[in-house]
Amino acid sequence: MRIAVFAGDGIGPEVTEQAVRVLQALEIEGMELVEGDVGGAAYRRHGHPLPEATLDIARSADAILFGAVGDFSLDHLERALRPEQAVLGLRKELGLFANLRPATVFKGLEDLSTLRPEVSGKIDLLIVRELNGDVYFGEKGTRTLEDGRRQGWDMMSYAEDEVRRIAHAGFKAAQGRSGRLCSVDKANVLETSQLWRDVMIEVSKEYPDVELTHMYVDNAAMQLVKNPGAFDVIVTGNLFGDILSDQASMCVGSIGLLASASLAEGKFGLYEPIHGSAPDIAGKGLANPMATILSAAMLLRHSFGLEEQAARIEAAVAATLADGIKGGDLGGSAGTKEIGDAVLARL
Ligand code: ATP
Ligand code: MG
Repeated sequence: MRIAVFAGDGIGPEVTEQAVRVLQALEIEGMELVEGDVGGAAYRRHGHPLPEATLDIARSADAILFGAVGDFSLDHLERALRPEQAVLGLRKELGLFANLRPATVFKGLEDLSTLRPEVSGKIDLLIVRELNGDVYFGEKGTRTLEDGRRQGWDMMSYAEDEVRRIAHAGFKAAQGRSGRLCSVDKANVLETSQLWRDVMIEVSKEYPDVELTHMYVDNAAMQLVKNPGAFDVIVTGNLFGDILSDQASMCVGSIGLLASASLAEGKFGLYEPIHGSAPDIAGKGLANPMATILSAAMLLRHSFGLEEQAARIEAAVAATLADGIKGGDLGGSAGTKEIGDAVLARL
C-alpha cells in the first residue's frame, strides 16, 4: 500500500503535513508514504512542474495525496511550465477521468452556508464530474470570417465509452450512498447530452439497486439552491460539473473543509482539498488542514477499501468542529498545527 505525497506550493505543504500525521497515527499495516515534488516547488528544483521522477513515483503508487499548486511569481513562464500544469499532466498521464466532490454541511456550521437556514442543514451530496472529455478537449479555434468578424469555437463532444465509464463511476458511488443517482445534462438542446442520457439509461440496467433520474443543468443549478437536500449523487459532464461543483461547495460555504478525489479506472486515485495554494496565508500556520485530512479519508476509502479508518478520520474532524475548534476560514482562531493536534487527539 504505497501512497505518493505531493504537497506542492503555498499552504499545500502545511496542510499536507497534518494529513500525513493523521494517516500515520492510524498505524495501517504495510502503508508506505513516498514524497515527490510538484508545481512551483518542482519547477524551482527541477525546472519542470511535473518532473519525470515525480511521475515515476505517481505510477508506482496506489494513490496520491495532493496538497495544492500555484505560484503567482511564476506567472511569466510559458503555459507548459506553470505550476497548474502539474495537475493537468497527472490527470492525463494517470487516466484520472472521474472527479468526486462531496459537499456536506457539518453540524454547527449551518450558518456558514449561503443557503437559506431551512435548507442549509440538509445538503449532503456528491458530485461525480467527468474530467477528460467535453468542450474542453474538443476541436477549437478562432478565425476571421470573410466579412471581417472574428469567430471562436469549441466543439462539445463525448464518445459513448467516455460516457459509459463515468456512468459506472456514478452508479458505484450511488450504491455506496443512498442509491439515488441524478444525471445532469441539457438533452433538450444538445446532441452530446442526448447521447449522454441514452448511455446513462443503458448502464442503469446493470445497477437495478440504483434509482436513476435526469435533470437539465439549468434546473439543477436552481434546485441546488432551492432544495439541495433532494440530491444524493449527481453525475455530469466536464463543463456542467465544473460549474455545479463550485456552486455546491460554496452553498456549504467552507473552502477549508471540502475534499475531492480524481479517480482512474480501478482503484487508483488522486485526492486533494478543493482549495488552492492560498498564497495570502501561506507560511503563516493559519491554513485549515481539514479539507486535506478529509481527502486522506477519501483516499483510504476509495483506493484501499479502508472504510472503518476513513470513518474514524471523518468522525474525528466532526468532533473537532463540534468542540468549537475552527480555523480562520470558519471564523475561528485555531492554527494549522492546533487543528491537526485536535483531530489526532479525537482519532
Ligand atoms: P486556485 O486558483 O489555486 O484555485 P484560488 O484563487 O481559487 O486558488 P484559494 O487558494 O483556493 O484561491 O483561496 C481562496 C481564499 O480562501 C483565499 O483567501 C485563501 O486564503 C482562503 N483559503 C483557501 N484555503 C484555505 C484553508 N485551507 N484555510 C483557510 N483559508 C483558506
Ligand atoms: Mg479556485
